[in-house]
Amino acid sequence: MNNKIKSSFQSDSTTYSEQFSDINVECRSGYKLRPQITKPQHVSIIGGGIASACAAYTLTKQGIKVTLYCKDNTLAQGASSNAIGALYPLLHQQKDDISLFYQQAFWRAKALYTEVAEQGFDFPHSWCGLLEIGYKESIVKRQEKFTELATWPTELIHKISAEQASEIANITLSNGGLFMPNAGWIAPQELVKQMINVAKATGRLNVNTNVLVNKIEQVQPIEDHTQKVKAEKEKTHWRLRTDKGDFDASVLVVCGGAEIIDAEFIKQLPFSSVQGQVTSMTTNSRINALSTVICHKGYLTPTSNASQHQGIHCIGATFKKNNTSTIATKEDDKFNLNMLYSCLPELAKEINWTEQDISTSKARLRCMTPDHMPMVGAMPDIQKHIETYPHLAKDKNWKYNQAAPVVNNLYVMMGFGARGLCSAPLAADILTADLCGTPYPVSNDMLFNLSPNRFVIRDIVRRKV
Ligand SMILES: Cc1cc2nc3c(=O)[nH]c(=O)nc-3n(C[C@H](O)[C@H](O)[C@H](O)COP(=O)(O)OP(=O)(O)OC[C@H]3O[C@@H](n4cnc5c(N)ncnc54)[C@H](O)[C@@H]3O)c2cc1C
Repeated sequence: MNNKIKSSFQSDSTTYSEQFSDINVECRSGYKLRPQITKPQHVSIIGGGIASACAAYTLTKQGIKVTLYCKDNTLAQGASSNAIGALYPLLHQQKDDISLFYQQAFWRAKALYTEVAEQGFDFPHSWCGLLEIGYKESIVKRQEKFTELATWPTELIHKISAEQASEIANITLSNGGLFMPNAGWIAPQELVKQMINVAKATGRLNVNTNVLVNKIEQVQPIEDHTQKVKAEKEKTHWRLRTDKGDFDASVLVVCGGAEIIDAEFIKQLPFSSVQGQVTSMTTNSRINALSTVICHKGYLTPTSNASQHQGIHCIGATFKKNNTSTIATKEDDKFNLNMLYSCLPELAKEINWTEQDISTSKARLRCMTPDHMPMVGAMPDIQKHIETYPHLAKDKNWKYNQAAPVVNNLYVMMGFGARGLCSAPLAADILTADLCGTPYPVSNDMLFNLSPNRFVIRDIVRRKV
């Protein structure tokens, strides 16, 4: 083989500023610059959930050939495997960075999923709205303040009374709350499969299931002097060491969710996992008519009309740090039921669910970041960041022209936490802009808020490195 393998993937990063986009040049925060690569003909993705489905969908639409490697025997077996997930934005009282990101991501997600369904690749979903119910005094007060500030348009969120809530929900509720009329629920597993089917229909997507990527190594071809000398960064590519043999990738995107965060090539980024269990409950005549998603401390969904989830409501979910088990437990089912009884006692008594009504349950891992925003973009070369921007430790406004040192042709799209259905489509658009040179769909500040190098920059500023 006409290649030699480098021992460390970190050793071949680039700092050439002319290869970077010109965003933020004005403010001389070089570390905010994103690398621009020549639009690749082929991209490889490690994944199989909603993140990789969105990435494969948008990249194939741009004419790029994509190969997906997924360790499971079918797609969407990780966090994206829940029977029903809610699609709604995370909104705070003020227009802070998190809320601005999630409200934009929400509209993008809804538009993208509608586009998928309208192409004839339907999946179980309903834009039935979502009620954040005022289930206790402190929440009611917070919701009043929310309404008073009127930060967000009413089509996104507005206050409703108990009567209005009962009418919308089609069941009697003794509390009103904040209603998001455009939100709803989706069956994530079917959504992922349909998005992949659309991408496959372009003839540009190849899916390899049952392939566990154990390791990646950077490969550099031996110079062929009869050919034109290629740009340094185009020479390197990746070799995926898997349980089914080796595969080469010119550009690699890691969308592996919580199950990949301990891999050598990812573990320097500050991801963590939080386990969660959702419990599926059998419907009865007292709750069957529910026609909107209700969020309290947990959530309660309407039943789906799809055959595979017919007559099932989902309640959840648990949040457990330091637990990486994907085996559902009776204890956590009980927790979910108790949460419904403690937050919405009247409704819970009316429904009268007991453990006998549990249909199935599922535990999976959420992939978290320290600031609850996902990461999308080039993999930073952490050590070179520390060497390149030392003065930030003394003055966080120190002007640096030097663009962020990154690991060539390696990208990350992970950390979707508890809201991947909402945030993955916008993240995929950003990834596509990184790879294709198309305009970024978000502001420069938001790009940095989502950038995988934001944590090492913050650590330098806080003198943590
Ligand atoms: C209990 C629970 C409830 C939730 N409820 C909601 C909700 O209501 N609304 C919402 O928006 N979000 C919800 N989420 C969050 C949402 O499910 C996630 O944010 C989203 O599914 C993450 O998608 P992903 O593609 O990043 O990861 P995943 O869906 O976990 O996909 C990762 C994929 O990578 C593959 N993979 C991993 N490692 C390797 C490897 N080494 N080689 C090959 N393949 C690999 C896996 O097989 C998997 O297919 C919930 C999550 C949980 C756990």
